[in-house]
Amino acid sequence: MKPSSIKTRITLLITLLVVALFSLMLLFAFSMSNSVVQRTARQQLADTVRANAAFVSLGDDGKLATAEGFAFSRGGVTCLVYSKAEALLAGQLPVGFSGAVPFENGTVRTVEAAGGDWYLLDLWVAHGWEDGVWLRGLMEVPDTAAAARNLLLAAAVALPLFVLVGALGCYFILRRSLRGLDTVNAAAASIGEGKDLSVRIGPVPGGRELTKLAENFDALLERLQRSFEAERRFTADASHELRTPVAVIKSACEYAEAFDETDEERRETLGMIRRQADKMTALIGQLLALTRLDQGTEPLRAVPLDLGQLARKTLEEQGCDPARLRLALAEGVTVKGDEALLGRLIANLADNAFKYGLPGGTVTVEVRAENGEGLLTVADEGPGIPADQQEKIWRRFYQVDAARGDEQQGVGLGLSLVQRIAQLHGGRMTLESAEGVPSAFTLHLPLA
Ligand code: ADP
Repeated sequence: MKPSSIKTRITLLITLLVVALFSLMLLFAFSMSNSVVQRTARQQLADTVRANAAFVSLGDDGKLATAEGFAFSRGGVTCLVYSKAEALLAGQLPVGFSGAVPFENGTVRTVEAAGGDWYLLDLWVAHGWEDGVWLRGLMEVPDTAAAARNLLLAAAVALPLFVLVGALGCYFILRRSLRGLDTVNAAAASIGEGKDLSVRIGPVPGGRELTKLAENFDALLERLQRSFEAERRFTADASHELRTPVAVIKSACEYAEAFDETDEERRETLGMIRRQADKMTALIGQLLALTRLDQGTEPLRAVPLDLGQLARKTLEEQGCDPARLRLALAEGVTVKGDEALLGRLIANLADNAFKYGLPGGTVTVEVRAENGEGLLTVADEGPGIPADQQEKIWRRFYQVDAARGDEQQGVGLGLSLVQRIAQLHGGRMTLESAEGVPSAFTLHLPLA
């Protein structure tokens, strides 16, 4: 069986609650109205009889006298006057009531008679020590069944109305609120069917919770898309870029098997194979690093770093020729960053400067603070980069002089990685160079 929707379930629950609440209220109202009606009737009886007591007396001759103001019948109360010997002196028994009820002074009682129940109150009005008259008040117990009938009639009209308004109101509010969920659902389904991760839900109607859900869903999609895209790119790049070195190694081996006769020739072939293997190692290393950054799965471990100290440490670890290095490292230039990533950035810049600079020339590494930024410049004495190439060198696999083949150690990923790392740290890269003018690459980072 298909599970019923949240809308239906909540509407049903609210409807049941409305019915239960309404029935309870009805019961309460009925019992309240019953007791109020009865109390009011008894009060009316007591008030009327007590008021009449002031207007009745016995003369010295033993004759009954009722003054003006004495009411034999008022507001449903019938008043009768009896002698001490309980003989009716004045007033008329109401229809349906028989008179044989013993007298009892001062309490309102309920007595049963043939025609129904009656409230009854007797008052002894004394005259002197010995004599006096009984004043008796009678009132029919009000018919609460009629009141109950009226109440039930009102309920029969009002309850369906309440239920209808409650259920419809509830249903429409829920429908409006849950419409956002349908949007989320539709987006999830369309991604599932078409595998299109670029779909985004965007703003949805229906309240804060759903807006948050949609935002989180979109953020999740964003990460998934980045991750898939990076993986796809890695696979494509790796399989494409590894093809050449593998082909070179293969043909070198074939050639060696067929023709290399002297040790010298074999050494040369082995050297070529090693260089290709180095290139493959570098390629895979850089490509993996770039993929991880693109995926954004590894969090940036940003800590305050002294840029000068980091540069010195990195260059030492790189094993750069100290005789060709000129350092101008200002102290106390602190930036916030990931030590491993920034170290990789500096190593890549230095590696390029040695690789593409003047053979045997000097590489200058400078660290300074300027305009609220920490700057690190790596400058060489090489032939520089033509203006029309300066945009392109940051692209993946782009190499200015790609035709240098085997001799060329690079794979064209170093500067892409450099730029990505700078961006991840909220910084940027600039390049000062031209054809014949040595290159100076500068990293700009916000000061910590
Ligand atoms: P790789 O060095 O692996 O070839 P990079 O992305 O680091 O890849 O550099 C891209 C290209 O930019 C290089 O092939 C090179 O031609 C050029 N380049 C980089 N650094 C320098 C530099 N200091 N001087 C001249 N050219 C450079």
